[in-house]
Amino acid sequence: MTTASSRRTVTTPQRKIPAMCQHQPTCPSADSADREAAQLVAHFPEQGWSLLCNGVLCFEDTGELLPDGQIIAPHRPLGADHVVTAA
Ligand SMILES: [Zn+2]
Repeated sequence: MTTASSRRTVTTPQRKIPAMCQHQPTCPSADSADREAAQLVAHFPEQGWSLLCNGVLCFEDTGELLPDGQIIAPHRPLGADHVVTAA
């Protein structure tokens, strides 16, 4: 039995992870612990979020939305309004 599945490479309007990272070195993937180190590809400070190369959405409150729909809770330390200068 042969299944003739002709996979069409059509760009659909859905949000998808960029096929390949053009950066050197390659950005960490969305499921890596280092995901925040990926390059910014879009930044909307007025809306409070930015998009990383690996498809992760970073919000102003340090929360994150992964490309697979997983939500990372904000991890900004409490009481961070007091900036400590490391000397
Ligand atoms: Zn990249």
